[in-house]
Amino acid sequence: MKAELAQLIALQNADTNIRTLQAEIESIPERRAEIEKEFDQRAFEIRGLEEQRDAAFHERARLEKEIFDQKQRAERADRNLMAAKKPDEYTAAIREADAARKQISAFETQVLEQMEASETAENQLKERAPEVEKLRADMEARFKAFDEQVKTQQKQVEMARAERERLMNELPKAISAMYKRIAARIRDGVAMAEARNGACTACYMALRPQIMADVRRGDEVITCDNCNRILYYAPERNAHPVGV
Ligand SMILES: [Zn+2]
Repeated sequence: MKAELAQLIALQNADTNIRTLQAEIESIPERRAEIEKEFDQRAFEIRGLEEQRDAAFHERARLEKEIFDQKQRAERADRNLMAAKKPDEYTAAIREADAARKQISAFETQVLEQMEASETAENQLKERAPEVEKLRADMEARFKAFDEQVKTQQKQVEMARAERERLMNELPKAISAMYKRIAARIRDGVAMAEARNGACTACYMALRPQIMADVRRGDEVITCDNCNRILYYAPERNAHPVGV
């Protein structure tokens, strides 16, 4: 029985290991998103500069379209002026041409402003190019390390599952079935509980001295009356530390 209890403990360790690794593997998308978020924050200012540059570019394109329209308006006014027969037609054409040219001039000033804005942003981006490059390299390294960690965890979980399978097959059917039954019923899936200092360490229920003695002997499978876990005794943990 002692050997079987040791196998049951090993089985419990494998199960706990599998659960921990499984949780890690399930949280991969979240952990990946966290890394992305961290880099997003670091890239925030740079993205701001890129947005400024792009916005200036689009605004400039819009202004140039306006200038084009106003130039056509001015040309039309010029033609009307040439064709004017009456003083009021003549005055209206002059006014129209003036208004269009004023608009053109205002838009041209704005174009210059936008050119300056995009140039400023572009220069700042150039200055920060090494920083951007470093950021990109850091992110790549982080993801590479993360992917490797994931691979390792997947290998570890496979190994733990194989170990669990092996232990399950080695145990007598009645005992492995009992373990499975208890593990399935208990919320955290931990079917084994250490008996220490006269109590079950899983549910803290006090154990009668006779039970404690039986568990310590390890001749049979004893379960906790309260939580139903299989009790085991770990001598090395219960031993008094030397020199204390
Ligand atoms: Zn218990």
